[in-house]
Amino acid sequence: MESTVAQKLDSLKKLQQLDSKLDDIVKIRGALPEEVGDLEDEIVGYQTRISKHNSEIDDQNDEIANNKNAIVEATKLIKKYEEQQMNVRNNREYDAITKEVELQQLEIQILEKRIKEAYANIEAKNEAIQDTKNSLEERTKDLASKKGELDNITTESQEEENKLLKGREKAAKSIEERLLLSYNKIRGNVRNGLAVVPVKRDACGGCFNIVPPQKQAEIREKKKLIVCEHCGRVLADVEEVIEEEKKPTRTRRKAVAKK
Ligand SMILES: [Zn+2]
Repeated sequence: MESTVAQKLDSLKKLQQLDSKLDDIVKIRGALPEEVGDLEDEIVGYQTRISKHNSEIDDQNDEIANNKNAIVEATKLIKKYEEQQMNVRNNREYDAITKEVELQQLEIQILEKRIKEAYANIEAKNEAIQDTKNSLEERTKDLASKKGELDNITTESQEEENKLLKGREKAAKSIEERLLLSYNKIRGNVRNGLAVVPVKRDACGGCFNIVPPQKQAEIREKKKLIVCEHCGRVLADVEEVIEEEKKPTRTRRKAVAKK
């Protein structure tokens, strides 16, 4: 069942109408979906940072425990040396042991210094964690409010969107695949999402370049599909401009877009 050019154009126009309404819905949601996504990413970033700080604190605590054990060992050694010193046979032995004791005392000083440094590190990490937690809390609040906003808008428009999507699916089925593909391609390439436009005031309704009278006549005939030679959009109609109707329509559209 081959459809005529006029039927094809009607199907394309219908599809375009539905797609434009869907575009409007997406526009009203505006930057909210992206903002929600950004906040979610930021929050994951903070959580990662906190767990990294926490594992670094664990490492520092391990080091403190190890150093404390080493101090216990060194203290034991010193005690042992001091007992040995009681039973030395000469000054040379006594001095040798004194040197060992001094070495262990030095070792203990180094270990104590390391422990102090580790505690300072932990304190710094805890401060950093607190800062990050503050940011996390703030962003979590932002996310909740943005998500609420988006949910409200989505709920409001969801029913209409579903209806439009269903209608779109149906309309798309009546269009041959090749034509649908180029329609989708044009729509993807143009900023305003219009792939099917009328000729208005002798100009393409998409790119506003002049459409020559001969072409306009062909468009009116609907014997073949005519595309704008400048932007490639399908020119479906030649619209007769009625001045009176134009102005109120424009203002209304602007008001809706501002929401
Ligand atoms: Zn054009």
